[in-house]
Amino acid sequence: MNISSETIRQRFKDQGLKNTPQRTAIYKALVETTSHPTAEDLYQHVSQDYPMISQNTVYYTLGVLQQAGLLREVNVGHDRARYDGNLTPHHHLICHGCKSIVDVMDKKLNKISCPSGLPSGFHITDYQIEFRGYCQACRPQTA
Ligand SMILES: [Zn+2]
Ligand SMILES: [Zn+2]
Repeated sequence: MNISSETIRQRFKDQGLKNTPQRTAIYKALVETTSHPTAEDLYQHVSQDYPMISQNTVYYTLGVLQQAGLLREVNVGHDRARYDGNLTPHHHLICHGCKSIVDVMDKKLNKISCPSGLPSGFHITDYQIEFRGYCQACRPQTA
């Protein structure tokens, strides 16, 4: 999904973030992809336009954006964090083989009933469902 510089400026302003060209480029790259990239992927992408950018800047910026609530981390159960700039409530399909992460936008999943047996007083603010398996390319061949 394309995002305009104006929208980015406004979002940063709303969160009290400074608007620097590199920060804008990192955020734009994240919002405009659905691949749920790693910090390294974003670094590769952004360094094409900003050759002077360092990996540390990318890590630092992702931390800042996360604290501001502008992105979320997707845990795929292995070492490197994956990032998601899509804040619309949605869920994920995760392939054990190629580690691809595909968005699942089924609205029915956004209104499942509250689980029973929760500790008393616990207030759920959000949740995320991860469907795990194998994509077509990675699916083990069945005889
Ligand atoms: Zn796969
Ligand atoms: Zn996602």
